[in-house]
Amino acid sequence: MKELVKETLKKDLFINGEWKTANHYTPLYSPYSGECIAEVPAATLEEVEFALQSAYEARNIMASMPSHQRASILENLVKLLEEKADEAAQILALEAAKPITTAKAEIARTIQTYKFAAEEAKRIHGETIPVDAAPGGEGRMAYTVREPIGVVAAITPFNFPLNLVAHKVGPAIASGNTVVLKPAQQTPLSAFFLAELLQEAGLPAGALNVVTGSGSLIGEKLVTDERVQKISFTGSPEVGIGIRNKAGLKRVTLELGSNAAVIVDKDVDVDSIIARCVSGAFAFQGQVCISLQRIYVHEELYSAFVEKFVAATQKLVIGDPLVASTDVSALISSKDVQRALGWIEEAKQQGAKLATGGQTKNNILYPTVLLEVDPTLKVSCQEVFAPIVLINKFSSVDEAIELVNDSKYGLQAGIYTQNIYTALKATQQLHVGGVIVNDIPTFRLDHMPYGGVKESGIGREGVKYAIEEMTEQKLIVFNQN
Ligand code: NDP
Repeated sequence: MKELVKETLKKDLFINGEWKTANHYTPLYSPYSGECIAEVPAATLEEVEFALQSAYEARNIMASMPSHQRASILENLVKLLEEKADEAAQILALEAAKPITTAKAEIARTIQTYKFAAEEAKRIHGETIPVDAAPGGEGRMAYTVREPIGVVAAITPFNFPLNLVAHKVGPAIASGNTVVLKPAQQTPLSAFFLAELLQEAGLPAGALNVVTGSGSLIGEKLVTDERVQKISFTGSPEVGIGIRNKAGLKRVTLELGSNAAVIVDKDVDVDSIIARCVSGAFAFQGQVCISLQRIYVHEELYSAFVEKFVAATQKLVIGDPLVASTDVSALISSKDVQRALGWIEEAKQQGAKLATGGQTKNNILYPTVLLEVDPTLKVSCQEVFAPIVLINKFSSVDEAIELVNDSKYGLQAGIYTQNIYTALKATQQLHVGGVIVNDIPTFRLDHMPYGGVKESGIGREGVKYAIEEMTEQKLIVFNQN
C-alpha cells in the first residue's frame, strides 16, 4: 500500500495524450484515515481551455477511426484492467473509503462495462426508411446513419469512480467521440489511472483529457463551452438541474439521486431476502444512487422482518476499507457524517424509533435502522446517501405502491411478491425508471437501460443506450427518378 501512495503522490493533468504539470495542486486526504494520500491538480480555466481544444481537435481522428479499431482499443483496456484489478481496487479503497471487497466488485463491473463498449462499437448502425410509404416518396431510397456527436463533457461523482466513468468514457470511445473528463474532487486518482491505461491501450492523443479540481469552476466552463456537444453528468439533483439550465441546446444526460424503495408482500419468505436487503441498504455505506433507503413491509410480516433485519445489520463489520472483512467504512466526508446525524436526530424527535445504529466512530456512521418514520422526514423524502434505512409497514399493496411513488425521485424500485398479479400491477404503477421484481432496487447490470424519472434525471445509460445519446442520427435520401 505504501508503494501505491508513493506512486500516486503527485499527479499531473492528462491533456492531449500527455501529462502536464499544473499551475496549482491541492492535497487529497483519505476519508478513512485522514492522511494525505496525494497531491492533485486544481485545474485553472486556462488548463480546461487546453483540454477542450485538444478534445475538439482530436474529434475528426476519432470520428474517422474504423469501428474495429475503436473496439480493439477498448479490448486492450479490458486486458489491462484485468491485469491491474487489485491495484485499481486499492485506489478506490484509498480515495473513496470503499471497502475492498465492494471495490473489487466495482472493478469487475468496470471490466464488464468496457467489454460491452468494445462489443457495441461494432454494431452502431442506422436503418432503412421505406420512403415510398408516403406519396412523393416513389423512386427514392432513404436510410439513416449514426454519427459521433463530437466532444463529450463527462462529469462524475465520487461513489463509483471507475464504473460511472466507464459508463461515459466507454460509450464515447465506442461511438467515435472525444472526452473531457472531470471526476469528483475526492476521487481523481482512479480517473488518472484510467488515463494511464487508455494511453497504453492505444487511444489517440486528445481523445481523453482529464481535468481535476473545483466542480463549479471547471464544470461551468465545460457546460457552457461551444465546442462541447454533449454533457453526460452523474451526481446530485441540485448540480444536475443547474447544469441543465445552463446547457442551452447541448445534449444532456443527467443521472441523479433517489430514495429507492422496496415493497415486501405478505407471501414472501423473510429469511431468504434479509441478507440481500441488508446489503442493498449498507453497501458502500449507503452511498449508492439506488441504495435501499425505504423498506415497506406487509403488516403480517413486519415484526419478523424488523427483528431479523436488525440482527443481520448488527453483524456487519465496521472498519478499515483496506481490510477484506470490512463491510462498512467511513463516509466520504465529516460534513456528510454531521448531516446524516442531524437527519437521524430529526427523525427521533419526530417520533421515529431507532432500532440500531445512530452512533459514530471518526467518519464512520454505524448502520442505522429507523422504524415508523413519517414520510415528510428528511430520512424518508430526501436522498440520505449514508448507511440509514427505514422500515415501515403497510396493509395493502396499493398503499405500498402509493408510498413508494410519494417521492420527488424515481430511479428504480423493487417488489418482493409471489403473486404474479401483484407483480404486474407494481410494474405498471410504480413511477420509476426500472422496476425490479423479487429483488432490491439496487440491482444493476451494466448493459441494462438505466436512468430515472422525476428528479432522478433524464436520459439513459447502459452502454448501448448511452451510445444512442452520444450519436446524431443523419438521414440520407437518394432520388433515383
Ligand atoms: P455532486 O453533484 O456533488 O458532484 C458530482 C460532480 O459534479 C463532481 O465531479 C462535482 O465536482 C461536479 N460539480 C459540482 N458542482 C458543479 C457545477 N456547478 N457544475 C458542474 N459540475 C459540478 O455529487 P456527489 O459527487 O456528491 O455524488 C453523489 C450524488 O450522485 C448523489 O446524489 C447520487 O445519487 C448521485 N449519483 C447518481 C447516480 C445515477 O446513476 N443516477 C449514480 C451515482 C451517484 P466536485 O467534486 O469538485 O464538487
